[in-house]
Amino acid sequence: MNAPVELSFVIPLYNEVEVFDALAQRMRSAMDAAGGACETILVDDGSTDGTREKIERLCARDQRFRGVLLSRNFGHQRAVSAGLDFARGRQVGILDGDLQDPPEVLLAFREKLAEGYDVVYAVRQQRKENWWKRLCYWAFYRLLRSVASIHIPLDSGDFCLMTSRVVKEIRAMPERHRFIRGMRSWVGFRQTGMAYNRSARAAGRSKYSLSKLLLLAVDGLLTFSELPVRLATLFGVTVSTLAFLWGLAILVWRLVGDANSLPGFATVACGMFFLAGVQLICLGILGEYIGRIHNEVKRRPVYIVDQLLGFGDARAEDAEPSTAIDELLTELEQLRRHALIPVAEGRDCWQEDPTVAGL
Ligand code: UDP
Ligand code: MG
Repeated sequence: MNAPVELSFVIPLYNEVEVFDALAQRMRSAMDAAGGACETILVDDGSTDGTREKIERLCARDQRFRGVLLSRNFGHQRAVSAGLDFARGRQVGILDGDLQDPPEVLLAFREKLAEGYDVVYAVRQQRKENWWKRLCYWAFYRLLRSVASIHIPLDSGDFCLMTSRVVKEIRAMPERHRFIRGMRSWVGFRQTGMAYNRSARAAGRSKYSLSKLLLLAVDGLLTFSELPVRLATLFGVTVSTLAFLWGLAILVWRLVGDANSLPGFATVACGMFFLAGVQLICLGILGEYIGRIHNEVKRRPVYIVDQLLGFGDARAEDAEPSTAIDELLTELEQLRRHALIPVAEGRDCWQEDPTVAGL
């Protein structure tokens, strides 16, 4: 279990029993072709159709497959996060379980990593999906690019290959609203995109309903942009300015014009409803951010593991994903940088280290 792993594949699965056997076969071939020590981490995201049992059988048969079985359905992005936490490879690839993302493409990406890149993300050139989904994706990526505070590449999803240092940084991010493709861009280092044709689902139906897709899009927009709140302010300023100018015009009209011809009730009612609408939109935007803050401060875990397969004898409750260790190391590194040492037993009591030069 502790032998160094060269390449890890992370695959989230939710009710994918129809495609599972084909996926297992493709992953076996991909791992054979990759050579070296490889592992495929299959994350079961609370499946109810027998996918979990299939994972259990596969992990028992072939040691290169490892299972992370979650306690319920946490959603695609959290399932990927779980897989990343348990991946041990020097290189880590993320792909969907429905074979829309061919694993062989990730093998080709390894050449780019060898050139010194830390992330090679796949850019979808053609999609074999229905027209409304293609249109939604097209519009979303362009909107995200125009509003996001960082550069998030167009038409690239989570399908990618990364070095372990990028994975380590993503793990260290504590946010509950996971938007992996954005977090991956945020990390930085050298990143490049490579084109591929996205095929149709090999079998089964999409697990992303329109509402789930919209929620993911809202997560992406709100976690990587402050533009919506700024727009609310801009709205407010524009409407107030217009209302002020309109008030001035009425005053002048009253003083110099025919006061009886002033527009009356209809204008007032219209203005009132308009302003009420603007206020509600602004409140809604603020509410979205506050809801997210609420979720973050609760500090609930991103996912809960029910069972681990193929990770030695560890029970789920004993096996800490690398995050906990990484968090501790990051904390120690920060303390070292600030030259603080513990003054007493326990972790919450620190003083400056007088032995550090320059302090
Ligand atoms: N998935 C998941 N949890 C969910 C929904 C989806 O783990 O709640 C997995 C799913 O099994 C698949 C991947 O995420 O491997 C992408 O989902 P899907 O193919 O349904 O999305 P689409 O490609 O239609 O956007
Ligand atoms: Mg799919």
